[in-house]
Amino acid sequence: MSKPMPITEFMKMFPDDDACLEHLFKTRFGADHECTRCGETGKYKKLSKMPAYTCQCGEHIHPMVGTPFYRSHTPLQKWFYAMYLFTTTRHGVPAKELQRQLSVNYKTAWRMGHEIRKYLAIVDGDKPLSGHVEADETMVGGHRKGRKGRGALGKTLVLGMTERGGDVITRVIPDVTRATIEPHLIQNITAGSTVSTDEWHAYKKLAQRGYIHGSVNHSQDEWSRNGHHTNTIEGFWSLIKRSIKGTHVHVSKRHLAKYLGEFEFRWNLRKDPAAMFPVLLKHLST
Ligand SMILES: [Zn+2]
Repeated sequence: MSKPMPITEFMKMFPDDDACLEHLFKTRFGADHECTRCGETGKYKKLSKMPAYTCQCGEHIHPMVGTPFYRSHTPLQKWFYAMYLFTTTRHGVPAKELQRQLSVNYKTAWRMGHEIRKYLAIVDGDKPLSGHVEADETMVGGHRKGRKGRGALGKTLVLGMTERGGDVITRVIPDVTRATIEPHLIQNITAGSTVSTDEWHAYKKLAQRGYIHGSVNHSQDEWSRNGHHTNTIEGFWSLIKRSIKGTHVHVSKRHLAKYLGEFEFRWNLRKDPAAMFPVLLKHLST
């Protein structure tokens, strides 16, 4: 397994704001960018007093436009460092930690965290799953369990689908009915795939929907049947629950989807952690 970029390497690559801006310029426009005004290529130079590049003809390019860094008062290097932190931790970065490491106020740290999470979700995307897929729902977040018999206070229902050896896709769902769950499965799992679930009725008609469906009966203490089990998705659930509990204390329903996007990104690149930061930087090119 590859190791994440050491901090010394980060400092060498991005010693200051200008180095970060140059990286943005190169990845978004290319070092030999063709000027739309004069048609020359590779004639851009950094302006001394603005975070912008200018062509020999005077045409300007602002590399930050269209990124979360544009109009932000936080220096670009701090953004890069925040992204670096997000891609080199296993359980995520709480706002308090960003605040401390970046010397910004809490509100700024909190907003930066959410902007980066949004980016992680976009970069991760949702490629359709195929092969052998496991689907399951769970409850995430909230403060703590409600009193017995009163359900889980402030918790959010989440549907998860994961391809064995592949990616995971999650969705916040309002309820666990078939009408809610089935369309997500059909949209995200390629027809003909094998799907393993538990015996919840929402999954009962998957064979009729063109899947090879098998289930295990958890209420009967049955955990695997003919290769059908939901251990992979349950591994993902326990990872995000541990991460949220250990890192964020409380995640509201409103923001949970953003955290899920972050955890999907991390899970989907779990075999190559060193790629996380480069992948994120590269994506700034779109
Ligand atoms: Zn030009």
